Amino acid sequence: MAGLAAAARARELGAEPVVLEKGDRPGGSMLLSSCVIWRYHSLEAFQEECPRGDPALQRAIVEGLDEAIEWLESLGAPVVEHQTGNPRTLGKRFDPAGLTGTLLRVIGDDSVRLLERGQTPLQKADILSTGGFPVRLARERGLLLRANRWSEGDGLDFAVARGGQTTGDLGEFYGRSMPAVEHIEERDYVRLAQLYGRFAEVEAHDRSVRFEGELDWSETNLVQAIAGWPDGLAWYFVERSVLPQKVREKTVGEMIEAARAAGAPVEDDDGRIAVLVRPGVTQTLGGLRIDERARVVGTDGLYAAGADVGGISNGGWSSGLAAALVFGRIAAEQALS
Ligand SMILES: Cc1cc2nc3c(=O)[nH]c(=O)nc-3n(C[C@H](O)[C@H](O)[C@H](O)COP(=O)(O)OP(=O)(O)OC[C@H]3O[C@@H](n4cnc5c(N)ncnc54)[C@H](O)[C@@H]3O)c2cc1C
Repeated sequence: MAGLAAAARARELGAEPVVLEKGDRPGGSMLLSSCVIWRYHSLEAFQEECPRGDPALQRAIVEGLDEAIEWLESLGAPVVEHQTGNPRTLGKRFDPAGLTGTLLRVIGDDSVRLLERGQTPLQKADILSTGGFPVRLARERGLLLRANRWSEGDGLDFAVARGGQTTGDLGEFYGRSMPAVEHIEERDYVRLAQLYGRFAEVEAHDRSVRFEGELDWSETNLVQAIAGWPDGLAWYFVERSVLPQKVREKTVGEMIEAARAAGAPVEDDDGRIAVLVRPGVTQTLGGLRIDERARVVGTDGLYAAGADVGGISNGGWSSGLAAALVFGRIAAEQALS
């Protein structure tokens, strides 16, 4: 998202941007996402939800997102819903393929170049936007990947080697509990999410630990807790009476049936239903330290945006697409000023 937003803004400002893409298609994790681009109502609420994030960066999102969303709409990006459906947040849901296509059209087809395998010429980049390092984190910690398969941390390594500072806990991530299977296809990342920790008793798979903390609304703290448990596996124990409860557009029962159909252990536990889950890593939350102008602190003239940047959602979760959109636009404007 950040790279395409930056390039589209740069094109609009009269530049001739080039997007170098490592994957076999543009769009990154944005294309796989639910594509709700949102913000908290105020900086105070943002700070409360993400207490370890930098207030200056959070302020830029609170103050800049509405205009950035209007900009997307003005370019013709298709809106699917004009609300987020979450009273804590403001924003819109876009069609991910439509949004990607809109940005590509503005940038111009010739300006997006797919790199040959093994090529990562980041020394040519003015703006780093390689999507953080969910692939590396998932591999190192034995977790499922729930993000595009190319974001290995190339931008982070490149900037750090040039003196770039990092911020936030580099082990912190946003993700979802997923059915405990070996691998999940990209097309199933949204459909198979097990988002009913709020209705469950949650224990490690060997029953050695139980989640006792206060669950946050996005269930990010639960997913991170499970990632540290034995084998990174947990049972969700659910009373049958909660099966009709809805979380967003699905019922708990539908989510459990999807887990069963995907091949995860789903068992009877003395009348309750037990579902085995494992964390899927969607986005790393630690990363490069930038200032409000999207400059990587410690480097001479490098910009970064999107999940390569840390210090925004730490301690909670805020829209990764919003951060990528706002700072992608800022990075383009600053790089051209
Ligand atoms: C299933 C799912 C649902 C989600 N739902 C939402 C949601 O509803 N709302 C929300 O706000 N967020 C959501 N997200 C998160 C959101 O997609 C990310 O926050 C956002 O895409 C981050 O933008 P980015 O530009 O940093 O990374 P990406 O969009 O992933 O783009 C990074 C790009 O960099 C490329 N790349 C990596 N390394 C290199 C390299 N060395 N050289 C060149 N290119 C490279 C990658 O291939 C990729 O195309 C979701 C994510 C997933 C997977």
